[in-house]
Amino acid sequence: MEKGVRISLGMLIVLISPMLSGCIGTDSFTDLGLRHGIPGGLTLACLDDSTYTSMVIEIDYEPGYQPESSSTDLLKERLDSVCKKPQGIELIFTETDFVNEDIWDANDVRATGWEEKSHDPRDGSTLYWQVIFPAGVYEDDSVLGVAVDASTISIFKDSIDDAENFLRRPSAEKIENSVLIHEFGHLLGLVNTVYTSPEDHEDSEHPGHSNNEDSVMYWAIESSSIANFFDNELPTEFDIDDKKDLQGLADGTITCTDQLWKP
Ligand SMILES: [Zn+2]
Repeated sequence: MEKGVRISLGMLIVLISPMLSGCIGTDSFTDLGLRHGIPGGLTLACLDDSTYTSMVIEIDYEPGYQPESSSTDLLKERLDSVCKKPQGIELIFTETDFVNEDIWDANDVRATGWEEKSHDPRDGSTLYWQVIFPAGVYEDDSVLGVAVDASTISIFKDSIDDAENFLRRPSAEKIENSVLIHEFGHLLGLVNTVYTSPEDHEDSEHPGHSNNEDSVMYWAIESSSIANFFDNELPTEFDIDDKKDLQGLADGTITCTDQLWKP
């Protein structure tokens, strides 16, 4: 009788253990960021066309939170100018009910983003990057947008609307234009996230950002204090140093780290 129980327990453990290790393995793989990566973790996949010849930007928005067409047109233009995608860059818009309409943290953005992704970020010869436009605000409500991993961004339109001052200089639309391109700049590894620039253009007080207020990567772009720094005209372009960094990463003269894929 006793022996029988032991055998059953043993069998049970044998049966359960592969399932356990499978789940834990998958989870820790994710936790280590080996699947999600860090912002900039797919920079080379974007700058190089030896494997990924086309790109899709997936835009998932809560009803009423569709991005301005001026924002997404500019985004396509900027990505076309730096990413090497001979088969083109396509934007796909999907109205989505995100359930959470309140307060978001980075984990919420990542989890929701991955639930809604239509493809793995690297699928066949296509690279998929995604931006969600949810209702609600980031836990630090001075944040207008965040890049949470190698392929996932969130833009907080409610906070962008709040950042517009009564003169509408700059307008919420212009702020959104710049914030959207700024966050995609983080997916491109700007500034110094997955490399070290030969130029001294990272803001020492705001790591990962430009010290040039004429660059879209200027730190104040994604902050609700944006209207204190700019009067109407906001940068929507990468500056010469940002572009030189991307060029150096593309041609291999600047070493790129933390990549989910390398040519
Ligand atoms: Zn930023």
